[in-house]
Amino acid sequence: NTSQQNTTLQTGQNLNKEKNEKEISKENSTEKSNSNQIVSKSMICNVPEVNTKTFYRDPMIPSLLVLPPTIDLHSHYLVKQFLMIAQNKASCFPPLILSGMDGELIDATSAPGNKTIQLAGLCPNQKVYAFEKDFKRGKLLKQRVKQSKATNVEIRVMDFLASNPKEFPKVSGILVDPSCSGSGVHGKKWEFTEERIMRLSAFQHKILCHALKFPNVKKVVYSTCSIRKEENEDVVAKTLEASHVKGVFKLKRALKNWKRRGIEPYQKCVRCSHDDLTIGFFVACFERIQQNLDQVK
Ligand code: SAM
Repeated sequence: NTSQQNTTLQTGQNLNKEKNEKEISKENSTEKSNSNQIVSKSMICNVPEVNTKTFYRDPMIPSLLVLPPTIDLHSHYLVKQFLMIAQNKASCFPPLILSGMDGELIDATSAPGNKTIQLAGLCPNQKVYAFEKDFKRGKLLKQRVKQSKATNVEIRVMDFLASNPKEFPKVSGILVDPSCSGSGVHGKKWEFTEERIMRLSAFQHKILCHALKFPNVKKVVYSTCSIRKEENEDVVAKTLEASHVKGVFKLKRALKNWKRRGIEPYQKCVRCSHDDLTIGFFVACFERIQQNLDQVK
C-alpha cells in the first residue's frame, strides 16, 4: 500500500478462517468494548493512533491487520510468500461478501490474485475457479496461488467471456473485478479520455452480463477501483436492464452498515473513498430472485 493511508494486511490460506459477512454484521450491531479490538457501530475502522509498535485488527474483517504507513513489510517472508497479502481494506470487501455460501465459486478476472487468494482462504472447502485472460498475468497468478498454499484454486488462463456457463452447474458465486480506469487509486495522476472510459464501461457491462448467465449462480459481486459513475452505477443500471437479468436478479444491499453508499438510486451499492481511509472503490452485489427455468423443468 503506497499512499498515506494505513497499510492493511490480509492473512492467507493457512491462517484462521475468517468470519463471513453475516456473522460480522451480527456482531457489529451491538457495540462491545474489548481492549484488543476496535468495534465500531459504523463499521468504519477509526484508527486512533498507530505508531510503530501498534497495529489493529479490523472490526469488519478480522483477518485484516491495520498497520502504520511507516512499516514496510514488503520484504517480510510472510508477504513475499503470499501467506499474508498487502491489500487495501476496500479491496477485501468483494471476497468477504461472497463468503458464507455453499457451492463452487469463480473469480472471473483474477490476476495478480489478491482477491482469489483471499476468497480461497475464506472458503477453504469450496473450489474456486480463477480465470485470467492475459498469459503473462496468468503465470503470475499461478505462481502466487501456489506460494499462498491455497489448494482449492483451479486456474484457467483464458477469456472468461469464452467460458461456457453450462459447464459450471455447481457455481453459486462469482466475483467480477474487471480492468478499470483505477481512478480510485491514482487520484489526480489519473488520466483517461472519455472515449476510453466508455470503452471500459462497455467491457465491464459485457463481462458482468456473462457472469449473470451461469445457470445456478446465486450471487455475483461486481467491483472496481474507479470512482467514475460510468464504470460503476451506470454499469449496474445497464446490466439490471439486460433481458436475462431483469426480473431474475436484483441488487442486494452490500455491507449493510457501511455508511458511504452508491449514487442514488443505487444506495444498495457500496462506495469507498479516501475519507474512509481506503482507496476509491465500488461494490455491487447481484442476487438471484428467480430460479433457473432449466432447473424447474
Ligand atoms: N482481482 C484482481 C486482484 O484482486 O488481484 C485484480 C483484477 S484486475 C483489476 C483485472 C484483471 O482481469 C486483469 O488481470 C486482466 O488481464 C483480466 N481480464 C481482463 N479481461 C478479462 C477477460 N475477458 N477474462 C479474464 N480475465 C480478464
